[in-house]
Amino acid sequence: MKAERPRVVAATGTDDRLARVFETVPDGLSTLDTDGRITSANAGADAILGVPPGGLIGRYLKDLLRQVASIDGEQFEPATIVERYERAIAAGEPYAGFHGTFDRADGQRLILWMKLAALHDSTGERDGIVASFADVTRERADQAQLAAKVAELTATSEFGHLALTGAPIQALMVEAATIVARVLAVEYSAVLELLPGGEHLLLRAGMGWAEGQVGTATVPADRTTPAGSALLDGVPMVVNDFGAEPRLVGSALLTSHEAVAGISVIVGSAEKPFGVLGAYTTRRRTFRHGEAEFMTAIASTLGSALARHTAEDERWAAERRGLESERLSALGQMASGVAHDLAQSLALVGGYGQVLCNELERRRPDRTTLRETAAIIVTAASDGGETIRRVLRFARADEVGQASRVEVADLLHEVARLTAPLWRNTSQAEGRSIQLSVDAPERMAIVGWPGSLRQALTNLVLNAIDALPEGGTIVLRSRHDGEQVVVEVVDSGVGMAADVRARALKPFFTTKGERGTGLGLAQVFGIAERHRGRVAISSSPGQGTTVRLSFPAAVEQEPASTEPSPRARGRRRLRVLAVDDEPRLGRMMALMLKRRGDRVFAVTSGEEALERLVAEPFDVVVSDLSLGEGINGWGLAEQVRRRWPQTRFVMATGWGAAIDEATARAGGVAVVIAKPYHQSDLERALVDDDER
Ligand code: ADP
Ligand code: MG
Repeated sequence: MKAERPRVVAATGTDDRLARVFETVPDGLSTLDTDGRITSANAGADAILGVPPGGLIGRYLKDLLRQVASIDGEQFEPATIVERYERAIAAGEPYAGFHGTFDRADGQRLILWMKLAALHDSTGERDGIVASFADVTRERADQAQLAAKVAELTATSEFGHLALTGAPIQALMVEAATIVARVLAVEYSAVLELLPGGEHLLLRAGMGWAEGQVGTATVPADRTTPAGSALLDGVPMVVNDFGAEPRLVGSALLTSHEAVAGISVIVGSAEKPFGVLGAYTTRRRTFRHGEAEFMTAIASTLGSALARHTAEDERWAAERRGLESERLSALGQMASGVAHDLAQSLALVGGYGQVLCNELERRRPDRTTLRETAAIIVTAASDGGETIRRVLRFARADEVGQASRVEVADLLHEVARLTAPLWRNTSQAEGRSIQLSVDAPERMAIVGWPGSLRQALTNLVLNAIDALPEGGTIVLRSRHDGEQVVVEVVDSGVGMAADVRARALKPFFTTKGERGTGLGLAQVFGIAERHRGRVAISSSPGQGTTVRLSFPAAVEQEPASTEPSPRARGRRRLRVLAVDDEPRLGRMMALMLKRRGDRVFAVTSGEEALERLVAEPFDVVVSDLSLGEGINGWGLAEQVRRRWPQTRFVMATGWGAAIDEATARAGGVAVVIAKPYHQSDLERALVDDDER
């Protein structure tokens, strides 16, 4: 740029040949004066910029470039760039070209590659600038597309990787939405899930939407929405301007966010759709084919991740069904023992009832015999009731409601009693002798769900029995270990080889062939986990097995007062409606309550009960759960709660132990008493705690 360089002749110069060269160079050439005003421009310049011949003369270069210009990708105002270059040239500093954007009169936007150089007069004085420029719109677009393609491919592969690592499904949806918004540079992105029923799509994840929309907003899954169309047709729905598609009016989500263009692609397949992936913007826009392809790639990865998750859910459900059948089979095994215990209770009730009748037949019944006989009957019946309650509690082994304080010694004794029919009777019948003992100090407690804990321990005892084909011993014991309570089930059985021990806790692992489910220990493991406990197995072949469960110990608490609540003495007389499809039970209730002066009216169906309630007010309804043909106890409770809210509803049922308190209260039932009940249970149930 120094004066000694060969001089460039101005287009206005005298050399005719040079002037024609200037004029015919296919690139744009122009000269500027020292102010940056255009003093000449060749035909190429006029043609590229689409101005009439001579139309550029007198204009400033920096004004032509209205758009942002860039040097090496960095963006500047055109004026800044031109000034910068002019300064650089003036100072004789090295410079390179820059990109400038120019809007042609016909509306086409050009990208120009421009270079400036100092122009000197014949004495070597700088008297202007020569500018050359070429239209690189196409090349730049290709380049930009290439860069976009690279960004899309990178994003696709990163997302694929994330999906493969088994990221949680919600995280994947959020990531898909984030990637789509970023790569397509749109304001809004969405992962929409098709809701059951197939009529709506729910916005499960997305970017840019107003607060509160994600997780709640829905759009119709029909052809009035871009998402619905993509879902129904199974092909990408690319809309450059919603305004040009009058039928697309159904998405309040899009209209309220002023989105006017977007791409929607199906997630899943038309046969098995999960939903839609969408990208939307508030500007009209011509989407590239590659952009729809990119969306399809992300949607397909998301779709297969979802399919895999669904498959896993189904497997888990199958596992749960398996656990259920495990529980049922344990229950089945117990049933024989229960039948035995019940038969015994009933034999006592029936036999002594007979004795009672015989005694009453005598002209002078012996009151002592009568009293003793009746007392045995009452006890036997309540033992039978206890047996039933045990079974129902076992069946209700799910962890609903609040965890409670569980005395470990009680728990172990109960498990021993529950399983007794198996290790005592059954094993004896098979000619092997099994001794089971409990070694548990009193006053050691954990917090949990007794039903589940009983079930876990029952499973361990069942395994121990299986491991004792020749008989032997089983010990249920517990001890403190620091802050932990350790419960062990120890057997002297066949033991396990190392590889069996390693796999024993796995669901479906069994060495018992058809007889086993392989779910017992898996269930024990699950229950222990939900109690923040651990399971450890020590065992070797021929050396027996110890399964050790450890749980956090319950915090010591003041021993609860075991005083029975004061008897309902001196309370007001009650009008009681007894509802039971077995008329003799209604009559029994009347007899029990007569001595307190309560008035009992007995009916045998829910419908009759309702009629009675309409006819006169009652303080309490005591109803059975199953009431034959018509409305059942729950239905009756619901009606009573709505129509006679002052009336207390007591449910007296053989299923009592299987109904938890929260369920009962939610159903309008104040108290559930389990049949068979004692007179005192009934009396206590009739009034509120604070009325006593
Ligand atoms: P299942 O009893 O149906 O086989 P489990 O999950 O209860 O399933 O037990 C898995 C396996 O662990 C059993 O098949 C058995 O091989 C082994 N196992 C469990 N408990 C014992 C035990 N006390 N003694 C020996 N092996 C046992
Ligand atoms: Mg088992």
